[in-house]
This record gives sequence, C-alpha cells and structure tokens, in this order.
Amino acid sequence: LYIAGILVVPVLAAQAQQPRPATDRPPANVRTVLVIHGGAGVLTPDELKAAGLKAEDFEQALARALWAGYQQLQRGKSSVDAVEAAIRNMEDCELFNAGRGAVFNGDGQVELDASIMDGNMQGQGEGKRDPRRRAGAVAGVRHIKNPISAARAVMEMESSRHVLLIGEGAERYALSEPVASKYGIERVSNLYFWTDRRVKQIREAHRREEARRAKSTAASGAEADEVADNTAPALHDPDARFGTVGAVAVDANKHIAAGTSTGGMTNKMAGRVGDSPIIGAGTYADDRACGVSCTGTGEIFIRHAVAYDIVAHMLYAGKTVHDAVRETTLALPDEEEGIGSLIALDAQGRHAFGITPKTPGMFRGYITSDGQMYVGMYTGEEKRVQLQP
Ligand code: ASP
Repeated sequence: LYIAGILVVPVLAAQAQQPRPATDRPPANVRTVLVIHGGAGVLTPDELKAAGLKAEDFEQALARALWAGYQQLQRGKSSVDAVEAAIRNMEDCELFNAGRGAVFNGDGQVELDASIMDGNMQGQGEGKRDPRRRAGAVAGVRHIKNPISAARAVMEMESSRHVLLIGEGAERYALSEPVASKYGIERVSNLYFWTDRRVKQIREAHRREEARRAKSTAASGAEADEVADNTAPALHDPDARFGTVGAVAVDANKHIAAGTSTGGMTNKMAGRVGDSPIIGAGTYADDRACGVSCTGTGEIFIRHAVAYDIVAHMLYAGKTVHDAVRETTLALPDEEEGIGSLIALDAQGRHAFGITPKTPGMFRGYITSDGQMYVGMYTGEEKRVQLQP
C-alpha cells in the first residue's frame, strides 16, 4: 500500500533500455517532511555511461541534500531553513543545473535564477488578503555562489519591500553587508560555475544550431518552411534542460516552504528568465494547500501558472494534493520531448510527483519524519537509500 507518497505518472513509451523500477515504499503511517527534485529529464543508462556518471552518483547527491534539509528540521528549524539547506547542498553539487554545474547561455555565460516562498500565514489565515505572505527571488545573477540564499534574503528584506531582483541589482543587494554575512552569500567568478560536462553540452548545442542554420540557408521557399518546422527549437531539446533543483518542506508547526534554483535552459538567450524565479509559475507555497516546485520548459510553466494552479485546485475545488497535481499535470501541453515535472507536499506530509507525458522521468527524493530516504529517477522507480560515508 502506498499512501505517504503518491506518484502521478502517465505511462511512458520508449523506456525499454531503462532499468526495471524498484518499488520500495515507506509504510503508510509515516509522513514526508521534505521532498526534492534534481530536474526533469533523466539520463538513460547509455547517456550516464557516456558522461562518465553512475545512477548512484545522483542517488547519493539526492540523499545528501535530503539529509541536509532533514537535519534542519531535526534541530527544530523552520521549513524555510530546510528548503534553503537542501537547495544549497544541490547548488554546490556539480551534477545539477544550479549553482556549480549550471548550464551555459548562448553567450557562454552562466546566469542563475532562484526563488523561495514561505507558506506560513503567520497564524492569521487571511488568505490572499494577508499582506504578510512572503516570497523572494533573484534572476540572471552571475556571481552568487548560492542563489537560493539570495532569494531568501530578498524574501526577508525589511518590510517585504521587493519580491524579485535581477542581475546587477540583485547581486549588489545580496552581497552587501550585513545581508551577505547573515545569509552566507559569497561572491564568485562566473568561472566557478563552469564544468566540463556543461562546456561539452553548449558546444554540442552550438554545433546543432549551426547545422540547422546551414540547412535552412540551403533550402528555399516551401522547403525552407519545412526545415524550420522540422528543427526543434533549442528550448525543446531534451539536452537543454537537466538538473534544475527544488525542495518543499513541512516543519513541526505544519508550515510549508518551497524553493527552486536553476541555471535555466542550455543555450538560452542572454537575459532569458524561466519559471524558476517566478512565484506562482515555478514555485509556490501556501500552508492551507501545499508547496510546489517545478522543472521543465519554463515558458510553459509561466504561461500556465503551474505552481499556483495546483494550490488553486486544492483551495477552490477541495482537491487532495494528489488529485491537484494530476489535474494540473495532465492539463499541460503534450509536447514531443515532454515539458517537465514537479513536486508537491501538503501540511499533512503527503507528497506527490507530477511528470508530464513523454518526460522521461525526474531526479527526485523524499525523507520521512523518521529519517528514511527514498529516491527515484525514472518514472515509477523508487528505492530506499542510505548515505554512504
Ligand atoms: N524550468 C527551468 C527553466 O525554464 C529549466 C529546468 O527546469 O530544467 O529555466
């Protein structure tokens, strides 16, 4: 019986070469206190091999992030602390597309986006009218080692003056004192984020783009239209998005927080901002419903206000987190390579994963109130993990 966590997954084709999913599940009476993702779109065993990686590398990376967040909760800290700790841990791990290891934009630079939201209504329960709802985000930052902490600093800015800061202004604020010391925000060179794997990925993206351009220049008239139709835009390229990270936690006071951090999509235009730092699109939290973090083609998540849509299903239609995630996920456009996935967690400790059709999985994991960790990569897969020393 599988109640604590619910997997909302349309059946996928083309999984023949993927390992048979393991089906470890926690007992029904335990609550999830933290759920995380490491991005939509997983690597097949062949791709893992080609990249010199192993599935266990990702499993352990997810386990380390879960443990980092869990320790905060064990110490009686808030869900905001747990989300920040889990995401910082993944930002520091170069396997993910956030912080070190983030993808390059078309100009060969790393530009990072992050957001965080506190679902706590401060006990007043005024809903949408509550002026104390707190959220913070940064976008297009190039020199901040841990963008999630900068997002938190914006959220906790005195009198909640702003929600979203971008580029240079965001960096100036986050690196100013006493903000930088209080939130542990460090300035780094853009080179800090670069990794061999992402250099290869951007070179490959440029090579494909060149080939596409050459093909359409060679074609003419109706033929040119056909070429344009047949060449997937870079944003829909399966290689374009791997490893955005997100977390949703619920603490001892039943307060929920959610956060997301990313380098965006490989080869994105300089200045492009996706859903991750957009409150209501990539991230949302409301104690009365749930917390949500999304990953995938950001433009679609923005247009469909995905994170808030799940909360709205719960608030206005009385849906459970499971049904809300399913409704929202299945109502999204059905595109060739899939458009992405999301995680959600309600105040009772019920989590749900939503993976849109044709998306070949999501790096994900959760930890229960008694400290048991479960991770999965491919659709339907779930296994218990322990931290390796
Ligand atoms: N949603 C992110 C963006 O569009 C990318 C991702 O999740 O992989 O920037």
